[in-house]
Amino acid sequence: MSLFITHHRGKLQGIRSINVSPTTSIFCQHTALPICRKCYAKRILKTYGKKGIPHYEANAELLKSPLRKFPHYKDAIFRFDSFGEIDTAEQLQNFYDIAAQNPNTRHALWTKRADLVAANLIHPTNLNVIYGDPMIDNPSPQIPPGFDSIFSVFSTDDGVNCPKKCNSCRKCYEQRRLFIREKVK
Ligand code: SF4
Repeated sequence: MSLFITHHRGKLQGIRSINVSPTTSIFCQHTALPICRKCYAKRILKTYGKKGIPHYEANAELLKSPLRKFPHYKDAIFRFDSFGEIDTAEQLQNFYDIAAQNPNTRHALWTKRADLVAANLIHPTNLNVIYGDPMIDNPSPQIPPGFDSIFSVFSTDDGVNCPKKCNSCRKCYEQRRLFIREKVK
């Protein structure tokens, strides 16, 4: 069985990604962070993204064991975890290994699992690991150990620097030490 690759529209139009599912993620099921109450992924998966759920659930299971078969692609940029959240160190390591297997592609992984990343600080140079800030309107975002950047959401337009067009912007994929600010959806 192979990992399912998602083709995006909207903000991620033209970008592909590998995802897990908030429907089976233990973190998503049992965590009530401020940002989780505004979960964009859950909203999408209740509507037009519904048919993807079995694929994202299958990906989560596959990623819990060392991958035997790696996807190979030629995309300029590629995203991990645009839906759901990783639960295990093995899932994180598999994302690191997929990036290493595709050295000509720039990757970005979004996660709130600072504990898992802190326990596995070294990741491939063609991967940016971005902390999904659990707070809304965080007055002083900090980049945790092992992360390259932090992505925070705010209830006003003040200081917003995410143009919401990833394929033309690409800064989360190509730059580091960023404090990205988006208005909450
Ligand atoms: S800053 Fe750019 S690359 Fe990062 S999420 Fe926003 S649009 Fe996408």
